[in-house]
Amino acid sequence: MTTDLAAFAKDNGVKYFMISYTDLFGGQRAKLVPAQAIADMQEDGAGFAGFATYLDLTPAHPDMLAVPDPSSVIQLPWKKDVAWVAGNCMMGGKTVDQAPRNVLNKLVAEAAEMGLNVKTGIEAEFFLLTPDGSQISDEYDTAGKPCYDQQAVMRRYDVIAEICDYMLEMGWNPYQNDHEDANGQFEMNWDFDDAVITADRHSFFKFMTKSVAEKHGFRATFMPKPIEGLTGNGCHAHISVWDTKTGKINAFAADKGTSETGELGLSDQGRAFLGGIMKHASALAAITNPTVNSYKRINAPRTISGATWAPNTVTWTGNNRTHMVRVPGPGRFELRLPDGAVNPYLLQAIIIAAGLDGIRTNADPGPRRDIDMYAEGHKIKDAPRLPLNMLDALRLYDEDTSLKAAMGEEFSAAYLKLKYAEWNEFCTHFTTWEKENTLDI
Ligand SMILES: [Mg+2]
Repeated sequence: MTTDLAAFAKDNGVKYFMISYTDLFGGQRAKLVPAQAIADMQEDGAGFAGFATYLDLTPAHPDMLAVPDPSSVIQLPWKKDVAWVAGNCMMGGKTVDQAPRNVLNKLVAEAAEMGLNVKTGIEAEFFLLTPDGSQISDEYDTAGKPCYDQQAVMRRYDVIAEICDYMLEMGWNPYQNDHEDANGQFEMNWDFDDAVITADRHSFFKFMTKSVAEKHGFRATFMPKPIEGLTGNGCHAHISVWDTKTGKINAFAADKGTSETGELGLSDQGRAFLGGIMKHASALAAITNPTVNSYKRINAPRTISGATWAPNTVTWTGNNRTHMVRVPGPGRFELRLPDGAVNPYLLQAIIIAAGLDGIRTNADPGPRRDIDMYAEGHKIKDAPRLPLNMLDALRLYDEDTSLKAAMGEEFSAAYLKLKYAEWNEFCTHFTTWEKENTLDI
């Protein structure tokens, strides 16, 4: 693990460090620092005017410092002169509590105090569009059911293989790439890991995918629903919880021959963690589905391919992709709610916050449902519906006092303030739809 960035620069021929942090809206912000200045920056951090990004700071606040975490450093495989390093936001010698990576670090430490380590893998789907973002980049990619389309994935081989080669080079253990369910949509998978490592890699993956796509004359987007009528960009999370004392045993998996119920291989603790996710699902959508556009993906009408692959109700099941939570095998579960706009750090943080609350309160995930939700979902009357829009989600988050406290009061207040302001801004936007439907009233 890297501890000395100046030595890292010397050993690897790095000329510039990109000291990066992620704001509350998921924007990645960075300063390019020449290697000769990195030793001081590693001590003191790079200075930013916090107000200029989404962190709920004022112009009067002093410098915010992004202090690089050397363990996160990555030399850009496509530009070896530069190395990216995640920064932790500090001000006046104190942690900026609302900054997303700090929120996650705090929750990881809380889990560790309970003897737990949350490990996750994510599936960050994306589209390759024309540079102006108006249409799919491949004019021949028009099939009605384009998922796993062999011909279409090979027409974008140069982009996909370049990104996968880089993941191999960085030691992420990528293992598969495919054309996804929408025209122009792809997914690339790499190994799961500790929550902070996955969050850093998720951030870097977005940066890398956009950079490589630009190099090839395309535009990569993780927008939840970039094309009306097509399947949206999900960011499914696969979650397991490990016992830190042994470092090996998955605390989610029921031991054989014990009194634990072990439904679908989940331990009592695993069930309670899942119970926390289920209990807080409608509220945590404010984090996992953070944009106005997010709600065009969940609650969407059937897409051209035949399914949205996105949930609209708070239900869980076994190996069945039509529910919000799928338990595909012993010891882990998949949360299918998050979308491509999710903030990589807040995604991990909200999973841990809801899960730990579930363990503390021994939350019951409710009954397992073994039906096709797309065909028979209307028969389920006693499960909560997911929020219909961003305002619903923000209000539900605002009402969920235990989830707000678990994420941190400073974070929750800052996030809600900026997101309510964003909603208000959206409402002042005049749409063609309202004109068409109201003009002759
Ligand atoms: Mg997928």
